[in-house]
Amino acid sequence: MSSEQGMLAGKVAMITGASSGIGAAAARLFAQEGAAVVLMARREDRIRALVEEIRADGGRAMAVAGDVALSDDVERVVEAGVDTFGHLDAAFNNAGWASSGTALHEISDEVFDRTMDTNVRGVWNCLRHQVPVMLKSGRGGSVVNTSSVAGLQATGASAAYVAAKHAVIGLTKAAAADYGLRGIRANALVVGSTLTEMMQTILEETPALEESFVARSVQKRMAAPLEVAQAAAWLCSDRSSYVTGTSMAVDGGVTGA
Ligand code: NAP
Repeated sequence: MSSEQGMLAGKVAMITGASSGIGAAAARLFAQEGAAVVLMARREDRIRALVEEIRADGGRAMAVAGDVALSDDVERVVEAGVDTFGHLDAAFNNAGWASSGTALHEISDEVFDRTMDTNVRGVWNCLRHQVPVMLKSGRGGSVVNTSSVAGLQATGASAAYVAAKHAVIGLTKAAAADYGLRGIRANALVVGSTLTEMMQTILEETPALEESFVARSVQKRMAAPLEVAQAAAWLCSDRSSYVTGTSMAVDGGVTGA
């Protein structure tokens, strides 16, 4: 499909956590669907290489390295995106981090803080800087925040991660309510087990978890990153124009079936 006909044609989309996994798959897909993409992650070499790949494929992309936990970094990325591409229509706030599933009383304050800083403050910082430019442009916008099955249930993931991903859903609902009359939609993705670097790390630490992750899905498999990215692309597009405040499960039936 040519990018002029894609479901994100003419849009500018910021994607965090674009250096690997779901975010990298989203970067490629959003660009194929016609968006100019603004990629953020800490590993600059990775997002720069991805920009080269997307450009070689005829897409529009730029990379700005930064830490989502730092408000100034997120502001810098949003500003750079608007300076380069003129506006911001969509955001996939996807960067996240999980420690291994230690019992609550064994989680250190440092791990709790890092989990909250990356997953909750990261989404907070994104919303705080993305929403004003969307309001100012008068073009409206669509924000998609990456939660997890752990955002609805205690899955065996760390208590800090469970709390953080619940908070992502709370922030998403609040944003949907605050901006419903001002043209900005906000939705969360309830992501199930997906084959990414995060998953590889978890399975290297505790190989026995693979069987239970697979067993939880009625499809008896994990997701490919692209399957999650496809839901994000639809939610960022105008095709989902009456969808806001929802927590969309992309979890192979774990929470729905
Ligand atoms: P991944 O491959 O490890 O990707 C995580 C991404 O987040 C990387 O691009 C990483 O980039 C970025 N990131 C982490 N901390 C960051 C920070 N402080 N600032 C900026 N970027 C940061 O894992 P993934 O599975 O694709 O994860 C994507 C999202 O899906 C996360 O929110 C995760 O919680 C969620 N999720 C994943 C699963 C799963 O089974 N994989 C299930 C449910 C939910 P840098 O390291 O380069 O900064």
